[in-house]
Amino acid sequence: MQNKGILYVLSAPSGCGKGTILSEVLKNFKNIHYSVSATTRSPRDGELNGINYYFITREEFESEISNGGMFEYAEFCGNYYGTPKAKVMEKLDAGIDVILEIETIGAMKVKQAYPDAVLIFILPPNVEALKQRLIGRGTEALDVIERRVGEAASEIEKSYNYDYVLVNDNLIDAIEGLETIMKSCKYMTKFNSNTIKGVLN
Ligand code: ADP
Ligand code: 5GP
Repeated sequence: MQNKGILYVLSAPSGCGKGTILSEVLKNFKNIHYSVSATTRSPRDGELNGINYYFITREEFESEISNGGMFEYAEFCGNYYGTPKAKVMEKLDAGIDVILEIETIGAMKVKQAYPDAVLIFILPPNVEALKQRLIGRGTEALDVIERRVGEAASEIEKSYNYDYVLVNDNLIDAIEGLETIMKSCKYMTKFNSNTIKGVLN
């Protein structure tokens, strides 16, 4: 019997580079499912429904919450964001690892509901670099950027509750850091109980 999949939770202040890092890391990890979140925010240029997010209305989101369809959810800068539950559970049960890219309130809810989740926080080199990255990305207006940067300090404070932290200063090093964490998790005893049972049989 195979082991259950590992649930990874990746957080970072907006603009820190988690999307950039994750898209590189996912190219090198095959047996992993990236959980597509639902959100009430509007799509950015180039974002596709069902690929980047499920873009839904507040009414639809609230109805998913009442139906118990969200594994976790939070409001961030005026919009709902949440993880659809069914797919995550289905993949973990099938032995496939799952990665959630979510903010800190949602991450703490996951930790409570699913204590075996591996929580990883990506830090910026400093808050000014974060602001410059958001400006450079060019996807948000300046007032939205200010709001997101304003959330950064309180999000970084929550990194103490995570299992791992890594700094995204040099992108190559950060990619390597995340890959190293994920590779080492594969060898943790608690994720290999069926491997041990299989050897004993
Ligand atoms: P997030 O997903 O955390 O909001 P993104 O991955 O969209 O952040 O990255 C925000 C911006 O910062 C992007 O324009 C990206 O190219 C840039 N970026 C990411 N990592 C670095 C880095 N190490 N150095 C400089 N710029 C970076
Ligand atoms: P963005 O608008 O930049 O795509 O995302 C804003 C923030 O919402 C980011 O910190 C991102 O990680 C977080 N986020 C995305 N999806 C989810 C989710 O399903 N749940 C929670 N709690 N946060 C999410």
